Amino acid sequence: MQKKIIVVGGGIIGLSCAFYLHQEGHHVTILDQSAMNQGASYVNAGYLTPSHIVPLAAPGMATKGLKWMLDSSSPFYIQPRLNLDLLDWGMKFMRSCSQKHVNRSLKVIRDINLFSKELYQDLATLPTLDFHLEDRGLLMAFQTTAAEKEEEIVMRKAKKLGLAVEKISPKKVQELQPDVSMDIVGAYWYRCDAHSTPATFMQQLKSYLVKEGAKIHQNAKVTSLIKKGKTIQAVQTDQSVFSADEIVIATGAWTQKLLQPLGINLPLQAGKGYRLDETQPTGITLPAILMERKVAVTPMQGFTRFSGTMEIAGINHNIRQKRVDAIVHAASQYYPGLKLSQLTKEKVKCGLRPLSPDGLPFIGRHSNFFNLTIATGHAMMGWSLGPATGKLVAEVISNQKTSLDLTAFATERRYG
Ligand SMILES: Cc1cc2nc3c(=O)[nH]c(=O)nc-3n(C[C@H](O)[C@H](O)[C@H](O)COP(=O)(O)OP(=O)(O)OC[C@H]3O[C@@H](n4cnc5c(N)ncnc54)[C@H](O)[C@@H]3O)c2cc1C
Repeated sequence: MQKKIIVVGGGIIGLSCAFYLHQEGHHVTILDQSAMNQGASYVNAGYLTPSHIVPLAAPGMATKGLKWMLDSSSPFYIQPRLNLDLLDWGMKFMRSCSQKHVNRSLKVIRDINLFSKELYQDLATLPTLDFHLEDRGLLMAFQTTAAEKEEEIVMRKAKKLGLAVEKISPKKVQELQPDVSMDIVGAYWYRCDAHSTPATFMQQLKSYLVKEGAKIHQNAKVTSLIKKGKTIQAVQTDQSVFSADEIVIATGAWTQKLLQPLGINLPLQAGKGYRLDETQPTGITLPAILMERKVAVTPMQGFTRFSGTMEIAGINHNIRQKRVDAIVHAASQYYPGLKLSQLTKEKVKCGLRPLSPDGLPFIGRHSNFFNLTIATGHAMMGWSLGPATGKLVAEVISNQKTSLDLTAFATERRYG
């Protein structure tokens, strides 16, 4: 049955939901509070990451989190704040930092990532979508044996799960990427990963949807969801009211505040990250995570992106120069001779990752309402998981059997 659907949020998750809902024949309207040209879905590293099988909530992370609170220059930073939502999130995060949770999540994360990668590859064959997608894998590049050992544990798990990964020497890296040298001890090369250029894919999705008759309202902030019993009847924006049969909430880091008045507590924190785009040639052709500095490097269409840091400091887009400097410094540490230009530094941008406490996304309905579907909390994998999330949401709303089991992504799950 064709339905009238409102998707709130036009990031990669909202646009992917809109795309697959449209494919199912539904009438889709997207509402976004911004001009839809900024934020996490534009500044990300563009990685498709089957390699990221270990969730953020893992043993040892709770202790690290406490240490990070005291060091505002670490790649991860939690700004100490007296905030009830942060305390609740922190408790749930700590409960999730167990081996049991990691073991349970490995296969779940692999499967949804591989499913999404397949969908990306399918999308790349469509004549109506023209975007950058490259299968050069991802290097986890290390300068110390400590980082090498840390990644070796992940690599073994990945291999056991059938993911293609191999350890390579600096010489091999040099052969694969001849126009730049790296100061590293070695790297794990996750051949299973891929990369893309986010802004072009976002632009392509928007143009496709508009051409196909979907409605996109930019600068339309949803201020409330109007309910009657167990149904959301309409969506109130700062300009007008939109009625629909089904509502999809894909509002990223902003979701908790939007849903709280409906009696839904979706634990989420914003994890700010930065990106620097170098338009001068760098010689970098292989995506790499500079392990000790947690900086992601991506050769995109026409520029090289350096991104990183995870700053849990509320919803704001303030730029902390200390963090920008740390990314710039890491670039020259791993690629000797590479100096990011002043213009690149001045044009730094940031975005907010929607962090769930256990590192898994929320995908599916909530029992308070018959016609509300939630799709958020993708943390560091939202770009990778866009298409899979969109497809799963379209299946839920079209009352089809879902391609993957959604239990691990339940919106009302327990933590720990
Ligand atoms: C530096 C960095 C690097 C990253 N690298 C990767 C990577 O390599 N691979 C990967 O998979 N992921 C990566 N991520 C994570 C990924 O970018 C995010 O998980 C993903 O973009 C989240 O998408 P989203 O659509 O949920 O949220 P957003 O992109 O934040 O979109 C949410 C949208 O909702 C809108 N909105 C919010 N509230 C309202 C409201 N009340 N009314 C109307 N509209 C509203 C916002 O304006 C926004 O446009 C990275 C993130 C960062 C910051």
